[in-house]
Amino acid sequence: MAKEDYYKLLEIDRNASDAEIKKSYRSKAMKFHPDRNKDNPDAAEAKFKEIKEAYEVLSDPKKRSAYDQFGHAGVDGSAGGGRGGFGGENFSDIFGDVFGDIFGGGRQQRGGAQRGSDLRYNLELSLEEAVFGTDAKIRVPVLTTCGECSGSGAKKGSSPIICSTCHGHGQVRMQQGFFSVQQTCPTCRGSGKQIKDPCGKCHGQGRVQENKTLNAKIPPGVDTGDRVRLAGEGEAGAGGGPSGDLYVQIQVKDHAIFDRDGANLYCEVPISFSTACLGGELEVPTLNGKVMLKIPAETQTGKLFRLRGKGVKQVRGGPVGDLFCKVQVETPVHLTKEQKALVEKLGESLSGGKHHSPQESSWTDSVKNFFDKLTG
Ligand SMILES: [Zn+2]
Ligand SMILES: [Zn+2]
Repeated sequence: MAKEDYYKLLEIDRNASDAEIKKSYRSKAMKFHPDRNKDNPDAAEAKFKEIKEAYEVLSDPKKRSAYDQFGHAGVDGSAGGGRGGFGGENFSDIFGDVFGDIFGGGRQQRGGAQRGSDLRYNLELSLEEAVFGTDAKIRVPVLTTCGECSGSGAKKGSSPIICSTCHGHGQVRMQQGFFSVQQTCPTCRGSGKQIKDPCGKCHGQGRVQENKTLNAKIPPGVDTGDRVRLAGEGEAGAGGGPSGDLYVQIQVKDHAIFDRDGANLYCEVPISFSTACLGGELEVPTLNGKVMLKIPAETQTGKLFRLRGKGVKQVRGGPVGDLFCKVQVETPVHLTKEQKALVEKLGESLSGGKHHSPQESSWTDSVKNFFDKLTG
């Protein structure tokens, strides 16, 4: 079901001020309050809820900017089915990547049982680890259920009591003129419970910050940008809610020899001048060890040789990639007098015919054509 635009619902401008948002919300809430629409309370209640939801998003700068940027998709994840609709602050579900601030614990949680936030852990892997998979030990700071009070937040031996303000409902009705508005209970902030004697370890939060060492199984073939989900290893939920998930964000480090592009690997291999001329066999590295590469005679520098199936098997499947070796013909250095004489002799011998230098002769032709056109 397509949702109505929040701004449209409140009949306000996209750059409406906070005061304008509030004003519109108030008048609409009044209009659609179920108590004032006795002839069609269901439709009015549905509309009222929509307006409330719109207000809750647009009155929160963080949510509003998320909504402006991504629309409903940006904020829907937190619209819990519980009382009051929006209560969660579980924005990292959707926004782990956008807001970045993953370990920004201590978010205020409202309402009763709530799922804990998702966390993200940035993991750097070597190319070999990414290609072959690995078991990574990662240490993450997480909010876990307090062991002292088992998450209740009340001192050992005591338990939370029913909130005296809302009698456990978490919501209170405020009389405003001739109609009443339902609001989150200010005493218990929606939990319906009050803690008279808070737990000394978690100070009544029911959760404590701890470092946890996890074993993250990284499957073979992952690449930079991939995420591995560790279900239930995120922040503990509040009020007995389920834990969030932990996302391990993969970053593959540069490799000394290989460059990776998806399934394919690339490397540069230097070859000697004589091997380039006469051909030969060359030992080249692959991720699975060395293989012999046949270099044909008269190989030019920059030529790319493909070693089929010596690339990467990607985590999402598909064919195994290839390894491309780019040969670089090396100019000999530190020549002795004798060697110089030999090269000189070779040079003289080669200068006789154009056909010894395929690139140079075609280049010379191009240059000649270019000047002919200029003068002609
Ligand atoms: Zn505790
Ligand atoms: Zn209460």
